[in-house]
Amino acid sequence: MSKKIYEKASPEIHELVKRVMQTYHAQLFDLAVKVAATMVSKFDADDQLLPCLRLHGNSVFAMIHLVRGSQRVHVNHDAEILIDAFTWTNASEETQIAVIDHELEHVVIAKDRLGVVKKDDNGHVKLRMKADDYALTGFYAVVERHGVNSAECIFIQPVYLRVSEAVETNTRSIATNASSTLQPVEATA
Ligand SMILES: [Zn+2]
Repeated sequence: MSKKIYEKASPEIHELVKRVMQTYHAQLFDLAVKVAATMVSKFDADDQLLPCLRLHGNSVFAMIHLVRGSQRVHVNHDAEILIDAFTWTNASEETQIAVIDHELEHVVIAKDRLGVVKKDDNGHVKLRMKADDYALTGFYAVVERHGVNSAECIFIQPVYLRVSEAVETNTRSIATNASSTLQPVEATA
């Protein structure tokens, strides 16, 4: 089994991360939160790219983690997005933008009771991670055996309703060229 290869993502991807941040996560952008992007690849014996990024055993497009504790002394970014090279290269630009938006949505700025942004001793903005609103797991076999009584079925229903409603609303307003909806990055704070 071949190993995973970690490489710094291209300047274009870093630029895209900044534009998505500026457009959908303006406060992270204004506070100059730095997010590094790393491509993760794996090749089979015939040099074909394989999906390799997994969370709880399932393939994911990307994942994000915060740079914490003593690591902050050594690196110049606050968070890192790991991107699955296979899934990324097979995704449309619209989906790539949504994937970055998803990862940035996990990052929350820590504030005190008065709403003042918390900073550490070195002046870095304190960040924390927000869990996904939903995470669905299940077995088709259990749904087949227990139908509407299965946890699989109970948990997916409200998600299905809310997701289909959002998709219906958004398809009416979404631009065909997703990158044109993004802010151009002029000055990096
Ligand atoms: Zn997530």
